[in-house]
Amino acid sequence: MPDTAKMLPKIAIYPGSFDPITFGHIDIVERATVLFDKVVISIAVNLDKKPLFTLDERREMIQEATVHLPNVEVVETEGLMVDFARRIGAIALIRGLRAVSDFEFEFQMALMNRKLESHLITVFLMPHDSYTYLNSTIVREVAGFGGDISQFVPPGVARRLKEKFRS
Ligand code: ADP
Repeated sequence: MPDTAKMLPKIAIYPGSFDPITFGHIDIVERATVLFDKVVISIAVNLDKKPLFTLDERREMIQEATVHLPNVEVVETEGLMVDFARRIGAIALIRGLRAVSDFEFEFQMALMNRKLESHLITVFLMPHDSYTYLNSTIVREVAGFGGDISQFVPPGVARRLKEKFRS
């Protein structure tokens, strides 16, 4: 690594679908902001998936949920994460590891990204144990059946979920 790289702000990217953001995601972002000067949350545009929330809705919910974290920025990205990382000078990719079940996929992705860009470091962070069972799919399902999701997502997200399923 060139010496000048040590002087630059340390930027990390936290990519995901965030459909919608949950307390699990927020826990990971908070931990990442302790380690890095700036954390760029990247909403990955995935044309194969049909998300519940639009990109604008997801961006708004993330911004509201991270308003207490001044070194967080929210962007949308398409294409390879390594290309985006190179463009903004990021040194790390943040991923959350909930359970062993996450490991195989995350391991493959991390090794592939390392092949594509050897300088980009994947950093795995573990959430508080009360969030290890939490994912956006479960939250959408529970909300869809009218269940109480207030302990899994911030109030703004809970409100939007209720609105989605009312219409
Ligand atoms: P999900 O898996 O909930 O659909 P994303 O695709 O948005 O979420 O995930 C983005 C990143 O956040 C992934 O690294 C995923 O492992 C992590 N993540 C999601 N939910 C949690 C959680 N409850 N605790 C820790 N990490 C999480």
